[in-house]
Amino acid sequence: MSDAPVTDVKTNLVGLTKEGIETFFADLGAKPFHGRNVLKWIHKHGVTDFDAMTDVPQKLRERLARETEIRLPRIALEQPAGDGTVKWVLELADGQHVETVYIPEGDRSTICVSSQVGCALDCSFCSTAQQGFNRNLTVDEIIGQVWLASRALGRAPTNVVMMGMGEPLANFDNVVPAMDLMQEDLAYMISKARVTLSTSGIVPALRRLREVSDVSLAVSLHAPDNALRDQLVPINRKYPLEELIPACHDFIRHDRRRKITWEYVMLDGINDSIAHAKALIRLLQGVPSKVNLIPFNPFPGSDYKTSPPDRVEVFRQRLKRAGIMSMTRKTRGDDIDAACGQLVGKVRDRSRRQLRRIPIVQESRP
Ligand code: SAH
Repeated sequence: MSDAPVTDVKTNLVGLTKEGIETFFADLGAKPFHGRNVLKWIHKHGVTDFDAMTDVPQKLRERLARETEIRLPRIALEQPAGDGTVKWVLELADGQHVETVYIPEGDRSTICVSSQVGCALDCSFCSTAQQGFNRNLTVDEIIGQVWLASRALGRAPTNVVMMGMGEPLANFDNVVPAMDLMQEDLAYMISKARVTLSTSGIVPALRRLREVSDVSLAVSLHAPDNALRDQLVPINRKYPLEELIPACHDFIRHDRRRKITWEYVMLDGINDSIAHAKALIRLLQGVPSKVNLIPFNPFPGSDYKTSPPDRVEVFRQRLKRAGIMSMTRKTRGDDIDAACGQLVGKVRDRSRRQLRRIPIVQESRP
């Protein structure tokens, strides 16, 4: 081992990918395979105590304990919903809060992961937007959500969707390594088909993503034409549909079995008519697609209303008849404000609902 000086800033090992930890160990003068073992201890076994890492030499363990750390977000609040969905409010090292949602469904378990504290994109129907943008999450804060969920469940979730707070492609450099760790055999071993990045459509970042990652793609479309999408998803003014749709198509072009999942929030009287369905069918022509119709989840201060279920069904049937696979997303966890678009974090939650009065408060546990 080299005798590099001890610095004040400890590297948090939770945020290192396999390549990252190998390099880090090599720089310490240690064997890269010890790095891989540590990665396995942390993510596969949930171990946060260096002393428990029995296949790592004692000297190295002592040095790691001095110079590095294994730091995870703290669960500030655990809120179970009636349908088995659980929402965690996580407190980060600087006191910021983000939310993670766990959604069980038979044999499957999906966790909905946040990528930013707040969001800058200002979609008009999303409550995270009301909080504004605060900061990007780091790799360890993103993968830390999967770590916590795995410990709470006793196993890794089967699916991860980057559909919590924030725009993942606006935090590219942290989201990509975190998604790599989700797929990593030494960590969570979730297949690329079951890791889904959801984006409002930052086209250059989407094109970059294609070069480095092969996860599944969901795109928040919500409108079949630019005029309406400009209103609902303002990033459309920068990257309009004529740029977005080809970029999405290119993302899956290398694999004929793949489809883009288009998310389409059903807003009463805004985007839910037959004419909108027809326009959507034209827009998606030739692009392998699945459409997820999401009943709008209301939140205090929003003017929109949810489309009536029969209108959603008519819309869905239209798409189906045109050969577009389409399903209506079940609303899960809405009784605890954990449904899509209801994640708001600290700013409003704190004042409105007085989190501390809700009894189930627990520390993160190994
Ligand atoms: N920023 C990313 C991921 C965040 S949200 C994105 O835009 O895709 C995940 C999904 O929930 C998005 O499709 C988003 O548009 C949708 N959503 C936001 N607010 C909603 C609401 N109030 N009701 C239903 N869906 C909503």
